[in-house]
Formats: sequence, structure tokens, C-alpha cells
Amino acid sequence: MKNHAELSEVFNKDEQRVNWHDETLWFVRQKRDKATHQIPDWEELREAASQIKHNVLSDLGNYLEQFEKNAVNNGIRVHWAVDAQEHNKIVHSILKRHGISQMVKSKSMLTEECHLNHYLEDKGINVVDSDLGELIVQLAKEPPSHIVLPCIHKKKEEIGDIFHEHLGSAKGEADPQILTETARIHLRNTFLSRRAALTGVNFAVAETGEFVVCTNEGNADMGAHLSDVHIASMGIEKLIPKRKDLGVFLRLLTRSATGQPITTYSSHFKRPRPGQEMHIILVDNGRSVQLGREDFRNSLKCIRCGACMNTCPVYRRSGGHSYHTAVAGPIGSILAPNLDMKQYADLPFASTLCGSCSNVCPVKIDIHEQLYKWRQVIVKEGYGDKKKAAAMQAMAYTLSSPKVYRLAGKAGRWVMKHTPFAVNNPLNPWYKQRDMPEAPKESFGEWYAKNRG
Ligand code: SF4
Repeated sequence: MKNHAELSEVFNKDEQRVNWHDETLWFVRQKRDKATHQIPDWEELREAASQIKHNVLSDLGNYLEQFEKNAVNNGIRVHWAVDAQEHNKIVHSILKRHGISQMVKSKSMLTEECHLNHYLEDKGINVVDSDLGELIVQLAKEPPSHIVLPCIHKKKEEIGDIFHEHLGSAKGEADPQILTETARIHLRNTFLSRRAALTGVNFAVAETGEFVVCTNEGNADMGAHLSDVHIASMGIEKLIPKRKDLGVFLRLLTRSATGQPITTYSSHFKRPRPGQEMHIILVDNGRSVQLGREDFRNSLKCIRCGACMNTCPVYRRSGGHSYHTAVAGPIGSILAPNLDMKQYADLPFASTLCGSCSNVCPVKIDIHEQLYKWRQVIVKEGYGDKKKAAAMQAMAYTLSSPKVYRLAGKAGRWVMKHTPFAVNNPLNPWYKQRDMPEAPKESFGEWYAKNRG
């Protein structure tokens, strides 16, 4: 079973990388702050977005049907997938029907969640990720470590080595401009030779049956416009009721993500161009279960801006891969236990509960409160760490009796003084990264009893 604390240790071995990862994401967080301070009605916007999403989640079935009806009228073929497996099968069946064995794909965290690339590769389909960060991690055979900045854990020198090996750039070349040009040339040929393109969906509008894809590189547009078959994969929570609601979300999304006023491309797809086939796959994969969990349903408001990751002190210093799930960080730690409580039981504990994530969330998800609630559910369901649970029980017993508390304090001070190795050893996880304090001669209670007069 994978564990966040153990995986973080791997990331923490390279202290320089940890510091630089921490500082880079904090820089993005500061850019977000500057961008939000320029909007006087920022808090009203957040509240509006939260309420719009609340409305959608309260009537999701009807909005989905409305979207389906309008999309079909526009000429889009709509598919429903109950889980990741069905989603992957649908994508494969569309490609198979057209005899297509190569596809270009823009950023879609849903396809990461469904492990689509592996599924298609096993079926002999070649998939090229066209987002620059996604392309880098694909070539490195790694998953993305951040939902907006997929290769934020990599230095430019490492990217230079990857491009040298796979794309033929000069050995030792680490100039970001030249590396980007190299990727651009490679991708241009890919775009021109692929008949199928898959994109994600940032927002789908129930009123019009259209969907909106936001990118900074224009890669989704390039893929979709040049392809004969455009497939869009969408989680069922991505709906908004009306086109006018988009203004609220587009203003919030990129300011929260990267500090830009708006994404470079916010493209609306409403109908296929003549001769093209356009498909949209509406994927549940556990979302309706989460919708039914009163305490956690708000997590479906997420617009995947990544701000909660950039601000999280644990994420910044443990890296995205330590979360061992497609969506890392605070929001991923709420979403993942819904899919598999046992496999992801560790994630809600990977937080200080400082609340910074909830403060920056543009749709006002009570992230840290949900993390705290998941901890309670996980322990109640018997998936918690058994050693920690036993320690907590011992602590509860000790703290509930002044006599036991005084005795335990005395024993602890004696052990720390006379047999320090009993606590200062590598088996003690607390000691691994910290020095244990020197034990005082007496407790405060004892000192007070002596000195109060
Ligand atoms: S939970 Fe909020 S802050 Fe985190 S990615 Fe989603 S919308 Fe952004």
C-alpha cells in the first residue's frame, strides 16, 4: 500500500529540489494574490461561483439532460460512462470504428484519472500529449505532479536531457526558449498527421450544449481543428447552467491558477465543422457517490485551478507524486478516498489543516474541513493507521486522568534524561527530521506547587 509520508521521504532526499519546488509554487501563489487584489469584487465573484455550482449540484440530473439534448441538437454525439473502464472503452471504440491508431491529446486530468494512455497503448494506439508540460512527463514516463503545472518538479536541465534523448535537441541544451521551439516543431508534425484529437472540458453549458476548453498554448484548438474526429472527455460536475455564468468562472480560473487575467485561449466548441465528427463523453467515475456524501459533495465544485496546491505547505514540500493519485494536493486528498477509501486512507492526513487551501479556493470549497471529516470517516471505517490509533487511545487515557498524566510526565522526563536512545532513534518517525528537546527537571505543576507562595 502506498503511503504519502514514505513517498515524501523520497522527494525530500533532494533538499535543494524541495526548496526550489517550494519557492516556485509560492511565487505562483503570490502572482495569484496580486491578480486577485486587482479585482475589487473578488469575494463576491467567489460567492457567485460557489452558488452557481451549488445550484448545479442540487439539480445535476436535469442539467445533464438539458446539456445532452442541446448538444445532440448541435450535432455532437453524447456518450455516458459510468466509470473509467467504460470511458476508455468508448474512446477506443470510436478510434477503432475509424481505423485510427494515432491520437493527439491536450490536457485532461480526467484521462489521467482513467489511465487512458496506458489503456490505449495496450490496444496498440499511439497517444501524444500536446500540452508542453504533459509532453515532458509523458516522455519521462511519469504522471503529472500538478494539475496545472504537470512538470513543475523538473528542472530545465532535466528537461533538456529528456528532449535530447527523445526529440533530438543538442546535448546539454537547457535554454527554455530553444527547448520550447524543439517541442513545437515535434508537435506541429504530430498535429498534421493525427486524424483524432482528444481534449478535456473546463466548462459545459447546459443552456447551449457547448463546451469550453481553456489552454495557454492553443494546443487543444490545434488538435481539434485539424482532426477528423474530436473527442472531449468531461467529468459530469463540469456543467454550468448558462453561458452568462462563464464570465464568473473565466475571471476566477486563471487568476487563481497562474495569476493571469485570463487564459490565452478560451475556446467554445458547439458543433462539429462539416465533415468532422465530434463526441463528448460524460463520465461519472464515483462523482455521483461523492454527490451523495453530504459532507463531501462540495468538492465537486472544483474547477481544477490548482491554487490549493500552490498554497499548501505540505504539497510544496512533498511534491505531487507523493500523493499517488491523479489529482494531488488538498483537493485530491478529498476526491481520492471517495474512489477507494482503503487505498487513499493516508491522504487526508497529509495536511496541517491550516486552512490556507480553503482561503484561496475560488469556489469556496471548505477543503480543510473536509480533510478533517475524512479523517474521522476513515478511522471509523477501520482504515486508519493502527499504530496511530493505539497511540491516540493511550494519549486520551493519559490526558483524562491528572494522576496518570503526572506519572506519565515523570516517566517521560526520566526516560529522556537517562535512556535518550529510547526516543532518539530512527524508529521514532518524529525524530527522523527533528532533534528531541531536552527534558526539563520538573513539570510546570511541580514548579508551581513549590513557588506559588
Ligand atoms: S479545490 Fe478550489 S483551489 Fe483547489 S483546485 Fe479546486 S477550485 Fe482550485
